[in-house]
Amino acid sequence: MADGCGCDRHTHRYLTVEEASRRGLSASDPVTETETLPLARAIGRVLAEDCSSKLDMPAFDNSAMDGYAVRLSDLDAGPDYDLPVAGRIAAGDSGAYSAPAGSALRIFTGAPVPAGFDAVLMQEDCELTEDGIRFARRPKPGQHIRRAGEDLRAGAPILPRGCEIGAREAAALASAGYGEVEVYRKLKVTIFSTGNELRQPGEVLGPGQIYNSNRFMLLALLDKPWIALTDKGPVEDDPALLEQVLRDACDSADLIVITGGVSVGDEDHMPRLFSAIGGETDVMKVAMKPGKPIMFGRRGDALYIGLPGNPVSAYVTWQIIGAPMMARCAGLNLAPPSPEQAVLAEPLQRHPGRQEYRPVVIDGTAPDGRPRLRMMAASYSGRVALLAQADGLAILPADKDSLPAGHPLGFLRF
Ligand code: AMP
Ligand code: MG
Repeated sequence: MADGCGCDRHTHRYLTVEEASRRGLSASDPVTETETLPLARAIGRVLAEDCSSKLDMPAFDNSAMDGYAVRLSDLDAGPDYDLPVAGRIAAGDSGAYSAPAGSALRIFTGAPVPAGFDAVLMQEDCELTEDGIRFARRPKPGQHIRRAGEDLRAGAPILPRGCEIGAREAAALASAGYGEVEVYRKLKVTIFSTGNELRQPGEVLGPGQIYNSNRFMLLALLDKPWIALTDKGPVEDDPALLEQVLRDACDSADLIVITGGVSVGDEDHMPRLFSAIGGETDVMKVAMKPGKPIMFGRRGDALYIGLPGNPVSAYVTWQIIGAPMMARCAGLNLAPPSPEQAVLAEPLQRHPGRQEYRPVVIDGTAPDGRPRLRMMAASYSGRVALLAQADGLAILPADKDSLPAGHPLGFLRF
């Protein structure tokens, strides 16, 4: 996956965010193994088959209203119509019903409309009489009848493979007759965070120590029904220990996500260890702020993503580059995140050069309806608490150093 020795670690060329994303996605091979699960257990999983309806929908002519089914041929010239009511059909009853000529049937929403009946009158349009019903307007043919197959014909496509089975998908599959579906097996993901300074929240901090936020961030980001997660917790910056954890992870996981240890000071630490256990690596300097550097690697079937240790950087690089890679590995067929259009609330000065993702809050709306975005105070990349107060990330173009108020910006809403 490294371009020979022309990898960016050596050339120091910065990749654009798009180039880095493309490179990440092309290194991400989807799982191929599938399993067949009862629909109730497939919820949240990734569909591995193209699904089409197993039956006409609706499967039979049925009433769209509570009211009365009639035969137009029974109706005389009017102006008022009187019919006796010969029977009653509710949802779930069979439609096999023979009513004497010249009579109506009491019918409820979803009940089958028996053969020969060709209109349903809303009960609100009928007056009850001693003998039956009276109504004033002749119904139109087919009125308030949902015809068999009018929504969907048997065999019509309903869902493509690669979609996540959420509420709408589960309902569509159930209505189309799927008692069980084929889904991709869960993606096996192993995470760990590197750093001697890391302590668990709840513990007492010693000098120079900080709480491990990345671990919990990743636990939340990877809490998906289509992931089987292994959490190795924090690992100290001890090469022997790191190598062992990395080796174990490569033997068992499809995807390994770690934070820290790829950045300034000891830039080659994780790449070197990864190479030492027989992996190929690609450390990319991406013209992205926050975010560089990001490391990809592969050993055997395991793909490795090394995120920056800094929690804001880790979050942003994960959302922009890591999450689409993971989705692809899991078999998901997702469109890349598409920013909405927003405008800058106040003028902004910045250093150009890297495409920047800044946590922002929405501060009202521009006259044309686009959200106005306000930068958060001192959004330097260590301040992860700011992320929790932000409404999303504004995308500041790489080439601009000064942006006036009202300048259009891409916005990735949380
Ligand atoms: P590194 O990439 O390991 O050099 O870390 C960069 C910065 O992020 C340092 O200030 C680290 O202390 C901090 N950091 C690394 N890992 C974590 C973590 N899991 N939680 C919070 N901060 C971290
Ligand atoms: Mg570190």
